[in-house]
Amino acid sequence: MDWTGGCLCGAVRYRATADPIRAVNCHCGMCRRHSGAAFMSFVHFPIAAFAWTAGEPERYRSSPEAERGFCAQCGSTLTMHEAVLDDRVQVALGSLDRPDDVRPDDHVWTESQLPWLRIEDRLPRFKRSSSAVPSRAEG
Ligand SMILES: [Zn+2]
Ligand SMILES: [Zn+2]
Repeated sequence: MDWTGGCLCGAVRYRATADPIRAVNCHCGMCRRHSGAAFMSFVHFPIAAFAWTAGEPERYRSSPEAERGFCAQCGSTLTMHEAVLDDRVQVALGSLDRPDDVRPDDHVWTESQLPWLRIEDRLPRFKRSSSAVPSRAEG
């Protein structure tokens, strides 16, 4: 099944021809700032099966290890690029055309989760990062 998505204005579009490796809900403060949302969900696609079909995100280096992608036209939060996970492209779940088809694996950086947010999905929760895990987080 093909997975497609893009930004709000349509200047940036992508297609993945393989299923996600992983999907993660991140509650860290940097994701919160970058998205403006309470938390961010990322869907990881193998880089070999991923292509930009229109435009490409601009990138902001948010730390020595990571860059965050966004649309230069409309500002949509689009991607995360981490040096330790260079086998994949992480796209913002909300940029997918069919985000309802994703099944998230876990929650990370829950020590930063907003106190009023109640999540009862029973997925594994990690106080901090599990992003060094190359595929699905164990736990
Ligand atoms: Zn855009
Ligand atoms: Zn984060």
